[in-house]
Amino acid sequence: MVNDMRFQLGSLLEMKKPHAKPCGSKFWKVIRYGADCKIKCEGCGRIVMIDRVKLKKRIKHVVEE
Ligand SMILES: [Zn+2]
Repeated sequence: MVNDMRFQLGSLLEMKKPHAKPCGSKFWKVIRYGADCKIKCEGCGRIVMIDRVKLKKRIKHVVEE
């Protein structure tokens, strides 16, 4: 499968895997975009920094750009 997920600052992303319990949310918002991105969990509000290439592999679907 070709991975050409496009997203930008403010995009809402649906991940392949849910966030750890008890959260379980699959939706994260991009709050910083760069070589390293920062994403915020829509369920529990946790913020994580992640390499953009790795992040792309974890996205199931870009809900909104
Ligand atoms: Zn969460």
